[in-house]
Amino acid sequence: MSFTPGFRPHGGAAERRYIHVVGAKVFVAARNESAEGSTHFIGNLDGAELWCVDVPAGDDPSDGAAVDLYSYFGRASEAEWIAAGRAVQIAEWSRTHRFCGRCGTANEAQPHERAMRCPACGLLAYPRLAPAVITLVTRGDEALLAQGVQFRGPMYSCLAGFVEPGESLEDAVRREVAEEVGVIVGARSSTPTGSAAPRCPPCRRASPSPAS
Ligand SMILES: [Zn+2]
Repeated sequence: MSFTPGFRPHGGAAERRYIHVVGAKVFVAARNESAEGSTHFIGNLDGAELWCVDVPAGDDPSDGAAVDLYSYFGRASEAEWIAAGRAVQIAEWSRTHRFCGRCGTANEAQPHERAMRCPACGLLAYPRLAPAVITLVTRGDEALLAQGVQFRGPMYSCLAGFVEPGESLEDAVRREVAEEVGVIVGARSSTPTGSAAPRCPPCRRASPSPAS
């Protein structure tokens, strides 16, 4: 069983499945149970088309049966869980990009790619990705674990965090470890080798396109 992400359906699928996103929870059904919810194609799973249904706030077509992604893990296959994660993120992006962040005009969905575009100033908004690092700090045969404030129950993990603009992945590891547990790891490199994150703004995507 494998999930293939996509932007638009190719047609010919024998089956459709609808991942309803209720808040940040998911509920999968063979038909769209939300009359008011907007839909987004998210890909194919074993010949079935998968659609995200962005359920409006306050509605719950699952009658309480929707579960968060933590709880869905283990109940679904890995492919189904990955698809559900994609559905939640696309629904959240759709909800939070209805209006232009620069001028406040109502955005319009782009027909040829997954993006929202402002008809007034041309600003494009793509689904947001947040690069992250995860690392295990070791000393001999010891490993450093920490307890996150958001963890459920007495659980410890290795350290992780989000990459900030202009950082390489190695920079992010050093900063996160220092911030979270006060330990200095690795040597600082002044050259952006290997895993350098983008160090300039995404100029092309942010530019208005008045000709279109
Ligand atoms: Zn605008």
